[in-house]
Amino acid sequence: MSRKPIIVGNWKMNKTRAEAAEFMTGIEAVLTGNENADYGIASPYTCLDVCVKDAKHLIIAAENCHFKDSGAYTGEVSVPMLKEIGITYCIIGHSERRQMFNETNEACSLKAKRLFADGIVPILCIGETEAEYDAGRTADVLKEELKGSLAGLSAEEVSKMVIAYEPIWAIGTGKSADSTIAENCCKLVRDTVKGLYDEAAAEAVRVQYGGSVKPTNIKEYMACPDIDGALIGGASLKVDSFTAIIDATK
Ligand code: PGA
Repeated sequence: MSRKPIIVGNWKMNKTRAEAAEFMTGIEAVLTGNENADYGIASPYTCLDVCVKDAKHLIIAAENCHFKDSGAYTGEVSVPMLKEIGITYCIIGHSERRQMFNETNEACSLKAKRLFADGIVPILCIGETEAEYDAGRTADVLKEELKGSLAGLSAEEVSKMVIAYEPIWAIGTGKSADSTIAENCCKLVRDTVKGLYDEAAAEAVRVQYGGSVKPTNIKEYMACPDIDGALIGGASLKVDSFTAIIDATK
């Protein structure tokens, strides 16, 4: 089965609306829509409508959502609100949200279920800390995060989603995982999906690597059989570097 790679920039808490609009003009100019991969940007809530308005080929993703439709959840944004403005993908379970905002596997599974109900594709992030890596616990951590975060989803849903393997020690550190580690972990994700669901879901799910991906190392990851793209933080902020990544993967 051939999976279409997906490269998504994660802006985190960066960019004003004016900066987002400027970026969109620059990136859309290099995309024709006939690429062999999907390209996207996850932006802060305040820029999402600006990005959607200017997107011709780019996927626009949210960086988070709440699993309830409405209510007394100060500061949160619901899936119907994202759907209303044309969002089609949403990151859930990013390690920064897991570590700083207590996002749990259970919350991820509820968010994923709610996103699918509105046809929005979850990009589920999982990954181990440096201490867990050093202790040889990577496989256990990934399996536990997958089991918890995918709970309640059907094989059909899982086959449509994107799972980003992001070792926490590689995020924003410049210390990217070498492609052997990244491939082995992405394969472990696929094998775990096969164990939890079936072969068809494992073959269809798109698994990204994330953590200090740059124009200089993207090709190495993309050459790995179980890596179907990347989730990119720092290198997605500038038109030049994101364009170089697009050019390296087109
Ligand atoms: P980075 O971030 O590319 O800056 O390491 C990746 C991420 O957090 O998704």
